[in-house]
Amino acid sequence: MSIAPFHPTPRTLMGPGPSDVHPQVLQALAKPTVGHLDPQFVAMMDEVKALIQYAFQTENPFTIAVSAPGSAGMETCFVNLVEPGDKVIVCRNGVFGERMRQNVVRVGGEAVVVDDAWGAPVSVDKVADALNRHPDAKFLAFVHAETSTGALSDAQALCALAQEHEVLSIVDAVTSLGGVELKVDEWGIDAIYSGSQKCLSCVPGLSPVSFSPRAVAKLEARQTPVPSWFLDQTLVMGYWAGTGKRSYHHTAPVNSLYALHESLRLLKEEGLENAWARHRAMHEKLKAGLDTLGLKFVVEEAHRLPQLNTVHIPEGIDDAAVRAALLNRFNLEIGAGLGDLAGKAWRIGLMGYAAREENVTLCLAALAQVMA
Ligand code: PLP
Repeated sequence: MSIAPFHPTPRTLMGPGPSDVHPQVLQALAKPTVGHLDPQFVAMMDEVKALIQYAFQTENPFTIAVSAPGSAGMETCFVNLVEPGDKVIVCRNGVFGERMRQNVVRVGGEAVVVDDAWGAPVSVDKVADALNRHPDAKFLAFVHAETSTGALSDAQALCALAQEHEVLSIVDAVTSLGGVELKVDEWGIDAIYSGSQKCLSCVPGLSPVSFSPRAVAKLEARQTPVPSWFLDQTLVMGYWAGTGKRSYHHTAPVNSLYALHESLRLLKEEGLENAWARHRAMHEKLKAGLDTLGLKFVVEEAHRLPQLNTVHIPEGIDDAAVRAALLNRFNLEIGAGLGDLAGKAWRIGLMGYAAREENVTLCLAALAQVMA
């Protein structure tokens, strides 16, 4: 039996990620593979590092792209920084906060959970209370943009609390990076991770990560070895150190890194503030149309993510049938509800290259037809 080459039908990706990849990023991916210690590749990696620093708004020397998706960026933070017995305040207002808690437990840390309702942001008051009640806590971990609900939390206020209580902050920026304001140095974030496949308009599979000098000091002072060989940043540092003498740790995903370089270059060319404004403007357009269709948002206006619009599925509408019709008739993907919102909500993404007027128009017209 011969197997034909795979030719996927192009889709418009307006779910919770992966999102539409910029055509120039796809072209970058197809450039000839070179060795990952080739001087031209090493020079490009220096640029990738500088571009990630720009996207995160940080001067942290420890700024890298982990060769794996956002979940590996999350694990990178927990396996390197949290030691057995360390107490971590973990904020849980959706799926990914719970995943952070599981990471804490797996590395032998003690998780103190601060719960908020699905669709609500992390409560700064509850976190302040938890920090007061647990003066021995070493970390505060939270999700900036909770992709399971579409809620944006106040990372600046939460990190200010962490600094006041002298705990290190660990921030999930998988969905926020490139889509909403995020200032790692100004806000005093200690450890942050993101993903390539959302507002960066890149292919999935890479995770930008940055550690502050305080986080690096905690890593260097560990009493126990990092329990993961692959994610042990004391070993990876030799490759990313930027000393010009990169040494082999693992085979870098060369072509994916070309793609990340191009996506971050495009972000820099557009300018971060302009990218944030574009996401906001497209959200406003989408919101106006969704209002007309009678679709109600799950998250209160003040805490809504422009890049992820979560709406209640109206009574009597067949969730799966609508999403299947969007895909089959319009090649348009929107996201199903996740966790507590499964079967109850749709998640409409406007992430990166997908945050364009033509996408908004297509989505609204297609939804109107399939819901009629
Ligand atoms: N954190 C958040 C907020 C996410 O939205 C996701 C993925 O959707 C992840 C972590 C995990 O990233 P990945 O699926 O790239 O492993």
